[in-house]
Amino acid sequence: MSLEDIKKITNIGAGTMGHAITLQFALKGYPVNLLDMTEEMTEEALKNGLEKIESDLRTYVKAGIITKNEIPAIMARISITTDYPDALTGADFVIESVVESMDVKKMIWQKIENLVKPQTILATNTSGLSPTEIAQYLNKPERFLVAHFYNPAHLMPLVEVVPAQKTDPNVVQTTVDLMNHIGKHAVALKKEAPGFVGNRIQAAIIRECLSIIQQDIASPETIDDIVKYSLGLRYSILGPIASADLGGLDTFNIIIGYLTHEISNAVGENPLLAQKVKEGKLGQKTGEGFYDWTGEQGKETIKYRDEQLLRALARENKN
Ligand code: NAD
Repeated sequence: MSLEDIKKITNIGAGTMGHAITLQFALKGYPVNLLDMTEEMTEEALKNGLEKIESDLRTYVKAGIITKNEIPAIMARISITTDYPDALTGADFVIESVVESMDVKKMIWQKIENLVKPQTILATNTSGLSPTEIAQYLNKPERFLVAHFYNPAHLMPLVEVVPAQKTDPNVVQTTVDLMNHIGKHAVALKKEAPGFVGNRIQAAIIRECLSIIQQDIASPETIDDIVKYSLGLRYSILGPIASADLGGLDTFNIIIGYLTHEISNAVGENPLLAQKVKEGKLGQKTGEGFYDWTGEQGKETIKYRDEQLLRALARENKN
């Protein structure tokens, strides 16, 4: 199956990720069947999903990415259902964004596989479950892989495409082509690894940031400033490997040689994070984490983040 053969998309799950992924396909002109099923078997999640899609579309209009007049045609490409056979009839590409549970994903994927054509590509948006483990429950594991979007999926360009042990390389290529075709920036990993690549790098950064706070070397605000005004800026343009090349690998060799004795190599749960969680300080969703998110300042920070992401997206769309 190649990009040209993909005409119809099915998206399972209408939550935080699923609604935005559905929108990406509909925006590009694909008809999308959107299925969600809450434990109570109601259509509530689908209704919420459609509302979130409409809200994302209004954001796109404000940013000049689409016009208001385009909204009805985009929405008309999305069909909602709670019925698996109905959702999967004729699907060429299925993507799943349901709860991060091996048991649920195993059950859902077995059900899906029995209802699709033999050549349909099957993709999970899992954050970190092993695609090889999920594929063990399938009859044709060679057409199964991960397409890992980043949240918020209507604003973040990256999709990590991760093959399981038995995934056919053509399936990987077609998925990369499809993701690029709908306007994402797709990258394929050579093989699966826990956390794929993005979450591994994020875990390494967060571990060191927490260690710096625990050793009272710098405050959370100072750490964020240091990253925003140096590494973050540089990495958004060139990435850490090209940056090392530009810095000089001889210099990096010396720095890594002595600094790796100093930086954190702690494993397992982090005591500082565990303490925050115990206190109910979960971040923006509970009003406090390392920062206070309750006042105007918190709202302004989120607004600023979204505006900057939209500006970057609009720039990408123009190029
Ligand atoms: P969510 O809770 O917002 O949405 C999950 C949706 O799946 C809900 O609408 C729920 O009703 C539906 N669902 C649950 N069981 C179902 C079933 N049996 N059949 C059909 N629908 C069912 O979750 P989310 O944040 O969108 O995460 C979904 C997946 O995406 C997870 O695997 C998660 O790890 C992954 N992911 C999440 C993020 C993130 O930042 N939220 C980022 C990347 C990947």
